[in-house]
Amino acid sequence: MLSKLLQTANLFHLLFFIDSELAAIKRSAGCPHCNGSLHQANYMRQPRGGPAGLPEEYCLRWSLCCGREGCRRRSMPESCLFMGRRVYWRCVVLIATALVQHRSESQSVGQLSKLLSISRKTIKRWFAYFTEVFGYSSEWLRVRGFLPATVSNDCLPVNFMEYCIMQSQDALSGLVLCCRLLGRGG
Ligand SMILES: [Zn+2]
Repeated sequence: MLSKLLQTANLFHLLFFIDSELAAIKRSAGCPHCNGSLHQANYMRQPRGGPAGLPEEYCLRWSLCCGREGCRRRSMPESCLFMGRRVYWRCVVLIATALVQHRSESQSVGQLSKLLSISRKTIKRWFAYFTEVFGYSSEWLRVRGFLPATVSNDCLPVNFMEYCIMQSQDALSGLVLCCRLLGRGG
């Protein structure tokens, strides 16, 4: 079951590894404003919803800062682990929303909220975001361009997650692919 994946440390390990790579690529490209060299200016976040005992470094949000006097602007590498400023891990937001979309009639949002230890209000907010906003977001539109027409724009993120899982060997790799595509925008 998808919710079990959220207790799998390896999922977070893989996503952290991808984020580290994305940061290294961004850093080697230099400052997008002045071409100056970029330095690390990472910070710790306190993301929720993952298994207990994850290494602290996984909570690191990679961030870069231009070293050139007079510029010093910050550059944020893309992230598979985090979804903007949301306090939950990206994979948690995706799975919780997918479970609400795919729930049986007998299963309430309250039951899912208990299962995942996430408040009903938060789950409903994510659901509303994916139903009303996500389909038009630049994040999704960038990914959409790489996908076959068979992936419907309805019922996101479930349709997209199912596509990613079908392209992969197992659900874990599928979820990693899903976070990677959304995080990098293609
Ligand atoms: Zn600069």
